[in-house]
Amino acid sequence: MIVLGETNQISQTGKKNGEIKLSGRAVSRGISIGKVVCLHGRKRQFYRTELKKSQIEQELRRFRVSVRLAKLQLKKIGGLKSENSDAAKVNIFDAHRLILEDNSLLTKIETFIQENKVNAEWAVKMITDAYIAKYKTIADDYLRERYVDLEDVAERLLTALGGDGRQNIRLEKDSIIVAREIKPSTLIELTECQPKAIITERGGWTSHSFILAREINLPAVTGVKGVLRHVKTGDEVIVDGFNGQVIFNPSKETTEKFKLVAEEIQQLNFENSENFEAEDEKLQTLDGREIILRANIDLPTVLAKANNFRTKGIGLYRSEFLFNQNKGFPSEQQQIEAYRNIAELAGEEGVKIRTFDSSFEQFADESAEREQNPALGLRGIRLGLSNKEQFRIQLRALLQASAANNIDIILPMVSEVSEILLTREILENEKSRLKKRKVKYGNPRIGAMIEIPATVFIIEELAREADFLSLGTNDLVQYLLAVDRDNESVAEWFRTLHPAVIRAVKKVIQAAENNNTPLIVCGEMAGSPVYAAILIGLGATELSMNLNSIARIRKTVSGIAFEEAREISKQLENCKTTNEVENLVNSFFLKKWSHLFSPESLPLRKNQK
Ligand code: PEP
Ligand code: MG
Repeated sequence: MIVLGETNQISQTGKKNGEIKLSGRAVSRGISIGKVVCLHGRKRQFYRTELKKSQIEQELRRFRVSVRLAKLQLKKIGGLKSENSDAAKVNIFDAHRLILEDNSLLTKIETFIQENKVNAEWAVKMITDAYIAKYKTIADDYLRERYVDLEDVAERLLTALGGDGRQNIRLEKDSIIVAREIKPSTLIELTECQPKAIITERGGWTSHSFILAREINLPAVTGVKGVLRHVKTGDEVIVDGFNGQVIFNPSKETTEKFKLVAEEIQQLNFENSENFEAEDEKLQTLDGREIILRANIDLPTVLAKANNFRTKGIGLYRSEFLFNQNKGFPSEQQQIEAYRNIAELAGEEGVKIRTFDSSFEQFADESAEREQNPALGLRGIRLGLSNKEQFRIQLRALLQASAANNIDIILPMVSEVSEILLTREILENEKSRLKKRKVKYGNPRIGAMIEIPATVFIIEELAREADFLSLGTNDLVQYLLAVDRDNESVAEWFRTLHPAVIRAVKKVIQAAENNNTPLIVCGEMAGSPVYAAILIGLGATELSMNLNSIARIRKTVSGIAFEEAREISKQLENCKTTNEVENLVNSFFLKKWSHLFSPESLPLRKNQK
């Protein structure tokens, strides 16, 4: 067992017999052997696809539609800006429109598609990259800086190309995605083609993309610095998602070695799941404290498996994965159906559906300006309350879906009680409208995500007002420590066992207990054996995690005594530094629970004092 993403690995390069070995951070377990597919693009991600001759005409039409769409958007933004009399910006967007009216650029892209038989995205990249490179060599300062406009236009075209959702997403069976970073929406799109692993430069253990990767058992290594400089599409690669290693152009000998390991692991997983099926459903610590496990579900493909694992329903369903920029906002009817399906699969124990926790950028159309700091921006419940029409649609859908199903609602990014009160008001209002229309509805309970540090200080009030609390440790750590969970360069500072995190978690659990308010821990901490043992010691009784963690956590819970977990957690509350916490954890776990934890599974760090 390894504390994923928190191992002490630094990017390294090693070359031997033509093999290139790079180290990074293991963020999703497993070993895969396959061929590299390089992913490009920032806002919209894509890769090179070869087309058949018969597909070229359609690709050209797709490209022309995207140009029209991009021009329309620019016209719209230009119009909006001129109303605000922001002349400089109007000029920028006019300049962008002129670039799109440059026939030589458009013809070059079309010719590239025809001659190379490739997708439009690839052609846009190749041609605009060449133009940008030329611009950068111009002596005149002003003209040289115009490459930025071309970059913007290229990005706009690429996004517009995704607009019709008709990109041919085809990946060979053994594809391993290599990217600077991977967006959750890209990963969801790509899962249709079942890639075998992911390697990225950027991202953290709690990045949504890697939460998804773990959910679908897709091995992943992140923090591999400069990886795109070392490889090209088609190169052979081995991904070791246990030790955070990737090996490009492996020798036959190395490949055979990893094939054997992969087979052994598969066999072990199979045996574990067999044992697991035979286990009793009620889960207790050695001294009889009952711990309830629920499932975190994000992807419909994973849903079907939920019952096999016999969790007590679904503790967190992240509804924002129902839509992305290309698919748009789901209609009320689509949402009702989606929520009913999930609730039916969750069964009697029910599902806790979180309202959209999307950022403004995911939600807004192309004409909106980007936020400088989306993590602190208009997202979660704030987006709902400032965009009431869409929020009402979602709440209405949830009310109707809960008429015959056990559904609760979780509000993301709550910062104070008033947001719960306002939501209750909207819900009551929607209930009376539905009643008038004689439409059936249920009475979902309202829970608040506890993930903003301010809520820890007003936790008693929140525990009194909410029907239940969901402790989101991913964001709580991010905001408490001011460390971006998606930014690999600060991954060393994302320290889950920081004394402030321990004390905040304790305070929240204590308030829930004082007020008799149910509390579910649903961040990634809950699915990690080491952290789960600490959480139980701090008093947590309900943990929600991805399905692939259930077997491990069952084993942990049934192998520890609550009193012992409490003893260590009490000591942790008084530690002064993270190193002190980690050292205590290491020594205590190895002394008391060596049957469950090996030294490699614990958060040992180099140079630890
Ligand atoms: C969390 O923040 O811990 C959480 C469960 O939600 P998300 O990972 O979607 O932000
Ligand atoms: Mg969160």
